[in-house]
Amino acid sequence: MRECDCCSEKQSQPLALDEVLNRMLNAISPAAGIEQIPLKQALGRILAETVYASTDLPPFSSSAMDGYALRADEIQETPVLRVVGTAWAGQPHSAPISAGECVRIFTGAALPEGADAVIMQEHAHRDGDRIRVTEKTKPGECIRSRGEEIKSGDRLLDEGQRLGPAELGLLASIGSPSVSVRRKPRVAFFSTGDELRPITEPLAFGEIHDSNRYVLDALLAGLGVETIDMGVTGDNKEEIQRVLLEASNQADAVITSGGASVGDADFITEVVKEIGHIDFWKVAIKPGKPFVFGRINSSFFFGLPGNPVSMMVTFQQLARPALLRLMGASIVEPLRLRAVCTNRLHKQPGRLEFQRGIYRRDPNGIFTVTGLGGQSASQMTSMSSANCFIVLPVENAGIEAGQTVDVEPFHGFHQAIGS
Ligand code: AMP
Ligand code: MG
Repeated sequence: MRECDCCSEKQSQPLALDEVLNRMLNAISPAAGIEQIPLKQALGRILAETVYASTDLPPFSSSAMDGYALRADEIQETPVLRVVGTAWAGQPHSAPISAGECVRIFTGAALPEGADAVIMQEHAHRDGDRIRVTEKTKPGECIRSRGEEIKSGDRLLDEGQRLGPAELGLLASIGSPSVSVRRKPRVAFFSTGDELRPITEPLAFGEIHDSNRYVLDALLAGLGVETIDMGVTGDNKEEIQRVLLEASNQADAVITSGGASVGDADFITEVVKEIGHIDFWKVAIKPGKPFVFGRINSSFFFGLPGNPVSMMVTFQQLARPALLRLMGASIVEPLRLRAVCTNRLHKQPGRLEFQRGIYRRDPNGIFTVTGLGGQSASQMTSMSSANCFIVLPVENAGIEAGQTVDVEPFHGFHQAIGS
């Protein structure tokens, strides 16, 4: 076994997932740079500053129903009122209402001065310009009060929140045409391996297409970073070194696929040690033990294993939260749910396993999961036929049908806070 003599501690044993996550998240701070962009372009971006409400929300008291605006205490004695006007959404009734009066009002219309409640139209019989109210009411009923959601000056959104539809809606509702967001980190990536051919070229015996680069490109695009595709290198120290340096000059983070373990043709750890620093390079998860985290110049380095499933698992479990930190996002932990496993699962103690499975609600309403066959780290079909990982603890030595297990839905990985 090769020793990593540049690490802060010599690493002969793989580290636990939680430990490496903590180490990475502590080592990384958000990439510098803030930009002011129009709201329409801000979907998915990370908020660079806390936003305070510049107005009350709602900005005025309005009706939550179609009905009649009145004074609640008046109808306790005389349930008959005179309709003195109409308040439409956007067209208020400007005169105050007096004793014995009410105003026809529609949802979203400003509450006329003097009124303190709205009764639903279903609770009033109208006859000409009179109504007879059939239900009692109290002040505040069917009214959205000014500032009841948020007061002017209160915190509306937090720095680090991801701008989803709800956040964009809130910014629009306070009349904010642009927003201050973090610069998208630039992430350069490439594949390594003498056996890899571009997907446009036919394969000679012993060669495979470079599929990982397409997976990585898609994973990074889904996360919302800027990508720099650096292509493929052979298993060649000089070439890997040249491309790594070129990548680290352009990017905030560099990701490689392949060559990260300890075979004779695996040069990633060796090269990164020479031109940068390795923090750790083995994690006790399966698939995906060889995972390198380090630095080259001012960029962070993530070396992912070449086996397609290992690459996806290490990206989702390790590189993804690290990149979210680099993006400046406030991070939500992955969603893990308990499910009844319907089949037997094989596992050796020693590593945290991410087996691929299909969760569903069975006809009795029970949340179940079924492990898929073909759990080899090279079989990408196990990812495309699955909808979740079954997460089996380090010490677990296998699961019998009927036992309860942890399930991590494919859409439940580390996320940024936001809708
Ligand atoms: P490595 O991590 O370089 O030892 O590669 C492990 C396995 O993954 C080998 O079978 C490689 O051929 C395969 N592999 C490596 N890189 C890629 C790639 N970019 N696309 C598809 N398979 C790959
Ligand atoms: Mg290789």
